[in-house]
Amino acid sequence: MQALSTRAKVLEKKPMTLAERAYLPAIFQGLSITMRHFFMKKATIRYPEETRPFSPVFRGLHVLKRDEQGRERCTACGLCAVACPAEAITMVAGERKKGEQNLYREEKYAISYEINMLRCIFCGLCEEACPKAAIYLQADKIAPPRYERDEFIYGKDRLVEAVAPETRSKRGIQLTPEQAAKLKTQLA
Ligand code: SF4
Ligand code: SF4
Repeated sequence: MQALSTRAKVLEKKPMTLAERAYLPAIFQGLSITMRHFFMKKATIRYPEETRPFSPVFRGLHVLKRDEQGRERCTACGLCAVACPAEAITMVAGERKKGEQNLYREEKYAISYEINMLRCIFCGLCEEACPKAAIYLQADKIAPPRYERDEFIYGKDRLVEAVAPETRSKRGIQLTPEQAAKLKTQLA
């Protein structure tokens, strides 16, 4: 039969040596690759004991902020829930009673406020919609892994930030000119 092109290369089929028949070259080649990777810098980390540094613009777990006097900022207006494309936010609004001015900043507050972290896509639209600067997505925290689906429904007990100012999230605080310049450099 006539060849279709002149590029065909006829290979000589050599008989395999005893070592080749025992797969020894292939075994040593495989072992050398394994050993090379064993001493190389690992691409994986031991999560959750170790975590990678977050990007300064990372959007993670939500926090419901308090004001400088420690009062809850949220006024249960529902704008965050309306803005949420995943319909992950639900809340029940209530009227602030006399004597509760030190707890809630506005006359209306959220009796309950829940975010379903399994539905949330961490887009940050709730943060942008909030007129009271009450909800922020933290740049350094993620929703930790859980076994039960119910445990991903975050209520006020896990969303409202701690009363002690030193343990509060840094999100939502006005940056100093130095911090803003540093962030700009990191993002450049
Ligand atoms: S981050 Fe986006 S998806 Fe998640 S609760 Fe806020 S608006 Fe909804
Ligand atoms: S977090 Fe903000 S937008 Fe959402 S209900 Fe509270 S005040 Fe309104």
